[in-house]
Amino acid sequence: MALKTGDEYLRSIKALDLKAHMLGKNTSDLDQHGLVTPSRRAVAYTFDAAHDPETRDLFCVESPLCKDVVNRFSHLHQGPEDLVSKVRMQRLCGTGTACCFQRCVGMDAANAIYSTTYECDGKHGTPYHSRFKDYWAWVQQQDLVVDGAMTDPKGDRGKRPKEQVDPDLFLRVSERRPEGVVISGAKLHQTGMLNSHEILVMPTLTMRPGEETWAVCCAVPTDAKGVRYIYGRQASDTRKLETHTMDVGNPRFGGQEVMTVFEDVFVPHERVFLNGEVDFSGIMVERFAAYHRQSYGGCKVGVGDALIGATALIARMNGVEKATHIKEKIVEMIHLNETLYACGIACSATGEATPSGNYLVNMLLANVCKLNVTRFPYEMARLATDVAGGLLGTMPSAADLEDPVTGPYIRKYLAGAPDVDVVDRMKVLRLMENMVAGAGAVGYLIESMHGAGPPAAQRIMIGRQADLEGKMARVKQMLDIA
Ligand code: SF4
Ligand code: FE
Repeated sequence: MALKTGDEYLRSIKALDLKAHMLGKNTSDLDQHGLVTPSRRAVAYTFDAAHDPETRDLFCVESPLCKDVVNRFSHLHQGPEDLVSKVRMQRLCGTGTACCFQRCVGMDAANAIYSTTYECDGKHGTPYHSRFKDYWAWVQQQDLVVDGAMTDPKGDRGKRPKEQVDPDLFLRVSERRPEGVVISGAKLHQTGMLNSHEILVMPTLTMRPGEETWAVCCAVPTDAKGVRYIYGRQASDTRKLETHTMDVGNPRFGGQEVMTVFEDVFVPHERVFLNGEVDFSGIMVERFAAYHRQSYGGCKVGVGDALIGATALIARMNGVEKATHIKEKIVEMIHLNETLYACGIACSATGEATPSGNYLVNMLLANVCKLNVTRFPYEMARLATDVAGGLLGTMPSAADLEDPVTGPYIRKYLAGAPDVDVVDRMKVLRLMENMVAGAGAVGYLIESMHGAGPPAAQRIMIGRQADLEGKMARVKQMLDIA
């Protein structure tokens, strides 16, 4: 097996010839589309890093499943060291791209499905684990990108799946056939879906007896018949379609989210990994969520590194880098960012083996990690905005910079520290704008809030995992309370 390079990955995705509804048009040739190409380049980064002599040791790992070297983005974690390496790898990608590089969802889904199917088979005698092993060994050997699809639309949030007016508001098995199942429904907020070869569909919440129809996990190729994509908008996204790239802010990379509709999609049995075993739906959801909450202790920290770097640079370009209050603000950003990283590393280093043999993060600390992520990037964005100054939101366009009448005024009046090039200063400001208020803020802020579940979901898990009964018992023991 060969580890793909970024270019090989891009060619393999192009060959799928996926289509998406974007800005009112059903669009093909996505690899040529200005809204899509930055997100594809961000995924390609994860492939190139497996070949770069400086990073390949972190990105390449021997897989016991396919007995070959694979990209860590498709690895099943074999110990706490693997979990730690995963977070370090994600930080590196976040620092290098300053955006969501999209490839973690499938890795997190695979690790959750691997252990859940093992336990499900042990209890119910189902054949899911060996099926999944065959499937994932193939994914590893082909070096594929797999999207994990969990979030259902959910309709009326106060109602269970079967109480909804429309049963498709939770993705379900709509038909059972001798050779497989047919699924119907949709998944929202699908990160990197159009840059993926495969989709791992999972249930969105703990299903109860009577809700077997909605307890389904399966794999579907992204080009399967009946799958339809509707592109998600991001703030200032059409700047990516303009000729002047400077106004985009992040000139090379970007994220991608889509709404994915599954209209009577047939899935053969060998790609079905849960089908009605409601007692394992919640375990699968919790484990996936825990892995993805760990992920944020790497990726968002990396993006935070880029924001800190840009903030320090603009302070220098503005001539204020030595001001005490500026230095304090940058130190505050570093403290917040490293606190996120500390949690990401801690939940990894204290991870434990599952009965199936792969390793699961410390669920309590992974949820603490993600709850911090719902707050700290917002505070870091506030500090970055403070240091950058108001020009972050009012700067003239790149087209006006090039205009013979307005250009000279812009160069004259946007001058900063004496040795600083005006255009360089504008580039840094545009990158910061992208990250705190533009298309990049989807990945850095909104995703920090809602990706891998909103803060309320982390609070529930923290409450469950914290062993309050044990803590009370120990206090009672100390005080001789019966
Ligand atoms: Fe990976 Fe972070 Fe993007 Fe999730 S949000 S796919 S963890 S980069
Ligand atoms: Fe995410």
